[in-house]
Amino acid sequence: MYRSEDRAKTESMNQITAQVRSCTHCELSQTRTKVVMGAGTLDAKIVLVGEAPGRKEDESGLPFVGSAGKLLDSLLAATGLARDDVFIGNIIKCRPPKNRRPKKSEVAQCDGYMMEQLKIIKPQVIAPMGNSSLSYFQERFGLERQIIGDVHGQVFMIDTPWGRVKLFPLYHPAAAIYRRHLLGELEEDKKKLVGLALL
Ligand code: URA
Repeated sequence: MYRSEDRAKTESMNQITAQVRSCTHCELSQTRTKVVMGAGTLDAKIVLVGEAPGRKEDESGLPFVGSAGKLLDSLLAATGLARDDVFIGNIIKCRPPKNRRPKKSEVAQCDGYMMEQLKIIKPQVIAPMGNSSLSYFQERFGLERQIIGDVHGQVFMIDTPWGRVKLFPLYHPAAAIYRRHLLGELEEDKKKLVGLALL
């Protein structure tokens, strides 16, 4: 699930994973099958963050393995990136029943876990995918609340505990499945994303 050149990073992430597996802070803990911590390299320069696990993710314990995940993989491949070159996670780690939107209280309960994960990875670029993830980062880092349709593909600088980081909002891949006209924009944004991590 996690890969890193640095054993300490893997150990820290394993500790957080153990905490989340026994977490009962919110009611999602009662209905989850598996927690979904995210996957990829802990040495990633780019972290992509979705909303919450869906049914397939809940069953497998892995992020973005359903239809949105397939689209995400093909978009990454088109920009020369594999899943293993980045880290892919979610703002909350347990599936909301019937894939409903996570409640504000559930996002708040999971906030500590997301931030701990990011402090271990220390990415240069965080790409929130979709409005839920975007508003989480806007709130967390004191940015003005704007919707994804207005700010996707733009860079916002945020001050994090590990330095200045580029926040780069992207459409959620599921949105591009249902609204095919977004696919072209998502493809263009993904190409820019790769360039950002090289600067
Ligand atoms: N949608 C998300 O936001 N995250 C997943 O892991 C799967 C679908």
